Amino acid sequence: MGKSLVINIREKPCLQTLLIFLCWAFSTVVCAALPVVPIAQDFTKLEQFQMGYFVDNTGQMSFSNVQQSDFTESPNSISLGTKAKTTWIQIRLKNTSQFPKTIFLHHPYAYHNRAVGLYEVVNNTLVRERYLDMDDKSTQEWMYRGSAVFDVDLQPNQTKTLFVQSLSFSHQWLALNLYNEEKSKRALLGQYTDIALLVGMLLALIIYNVLLFLSSRLKEHFYYSCYLISGGFWIALSYGLLADLFDVFGSVTLKWHLTLVSMPIFLLLFMINIFETKKKYPIEHWALMSVLIMLIIDFVYGLFDIVTALRYSSILAGLMMIVSLSVTVSMMIRKHPIAPFFLMAHGLFIAFSTLALLFYVGKAEFNYINSHGVGIGIVLEALALSLIIAYRIKNLETIKASQDELKLLASTDPMTRLYNRRYFNAEAELLLRQAVLRQQPATIVLLDIDHFKKVNDTYGHSAGDNVIIRVANTLTDQCRKQDILARYGGEEFIIFMTNTPVNQALPLMENIRRTLEQESVETGYDETIHFTVSAGIAEVDLGNPNLKNSINQADKALYQAKGFGRNQSKIYENK
Ligand code: GH3
Ligand code: MG
Ligand code: MG
Repeated sequence: MGKSLVINIREKPCLQTLLIFLCWAFSTVVCAALPVVPIAQDFTKLEQFQMGYFVDNTGQMSFSNVQQSDFTESPNSISLGTKAKTTWIQIRLKNTSQFPKTIFLHHPYAYHNRAVGLYEVVNNTLVRERYLDMDDKSTQEWMYRGSAVFDVDLQPNQTKTLFVQSLSFSHQWLALNLYNEEKSKRALLGQYTDIALLVGMLLALIIYNVLLFLSSRLKEHFYYSCYLISGGFWIALSYGLLADLFDVFGSVTLKWHLTLVSMPIFLLLFMINIFETKKKYPIEHWALMSVLIMLIIDFVYGLFDIVTALRYSSILAGLMMIVSLSVTVSMMIRKHPIAPFFLMAHGLFIAFSTLALLFYVGKAEFNYINSHGVGIGIVLEALALSLIIAYRIKNLETIKASQDELKLLASTDPMTRLYNRRYFNAEAELLLRQAVLRQQPATIVLLDIDHFKKVNDTYGHSAGDNVIIRVANTLTDQCRKQDILARYGGEEFIIFMTNTPVNQALPLMENIRRTLEQESVETGYDETIHFTVSAGIAEVDLGNPNLKNSINQADKALYQAKGFGRNQSKIYENK
């Protein structure tokens, strides 16, 4: 019988054509219908399945019309761009078990939607409908930690079609998952840990830079902190962390997307400040300032009309990227040491933001990197820019160290390492003022090596140098911490003794003189140089304080000491 049928068909071309047509028609019908998602007895979760989507370009179609429309088969995660503001999803479920089941449909990115609706259809009849308006408190019972969660009942062997209506403010991107009760609860826990980590990293940088700003008052730290705050806030907002922690979702969040405009504003200010474009590079400054002004206008406009402002913000962001990249390249050509850091930072941001942009317009697949591209770009850019801060701090430290060295060089004598006359005069003036304020006595001592010319003449200049060094070292050892000791001239030394009257200064000086008298310097040619010093001592007149006068008086006393035969200390006497 079978055999004869086959033969019959082969012999009749019209029957053959009919059969081919029937096969084609059958397969078309089968392919047009969306695959059924089976919910078995042991069902726990489904995070990858096939569904269908339909974009209602009018945004006003009735549900019965939507039901009749053609749905395009797709995976359960989709991104459809800005034109798909009203999108419908169709999921066909079949309970393949003998028991009634309750499953949970999750829409984890619902926080950035305007509204989400769920319509349940059995045998072409609408059996249940729910509409979650993000701005209507009474409908928020299906909103948990930023996700929309709907419970769906399935009778044994029942087939049910779910229609999910997703209304977005701008870009349409969503993922839908199915869970049993236990997995539903688990899915809601810890779903924003990655975002919290990204924001935490930025937060650490923010605190660090605010502290740096408070301690250094350098504007670059302030601008960089503001840039990080804007970036961190935007990440927390647009990746659901704020929705999760503070139930921030719906149209109230829309205004906060202005941080996407304030971020480049502060980045430009940071750039202008760090490259010092105003002072050094007028053309680059003009270019950066033009974009900055446009961004500020857009920001202010956004306070009143956020939707229009955000539309322009993407054009401005593109313009800002081109300008800042061009300025960076120009700085590279000028061999500016910070330019490579900027190039790396911008490069990373542009690369990841491009992936995100392609994702948002529906041209790149729905994966973690693409859907979080802007956030990853911001964090990598922020980290790369923080290298600039580190570089600047290192530079400032080097500059400070060399400044300190210069100061030291300018205030000391290289041979003896004692302070020089200039430093002594400045410092002694301060101590003198202090002495007058506190009414504490102060004394000046001038000290000169006796017959030093003879030392030079007998043993040579370098042996003379060694004697000067030896006197300097002994004086350093013998002087008290409160005194200032300096090399005042060739072989002359000066001491400002604080809180010391002349009658205390004399024994101190005599002590030093006697110590020096005992010392000697070897010439290296089996010769030993013995030397003595003379000192003139004068107390500062607190009633008529004058440093020059006091030094002159000490000099007069020194002259006296020389006159009385040297190797002695003399107090100035006003005769
Ligand atoms: P007096 O006891 O009166 O002070 O006699 P003196 O020979 O020490 O006379 P004076 O104080 O005027 O001599 C200063 C000499 O010190 C002159 C100069 O050649 C020498 N001198 C100045 N600076 C240096 C130096 O840095 N090294 C050496 N070796 N000699 C110096
Ligand atoms: Mg002298
Ligand atoms: Mg001398």
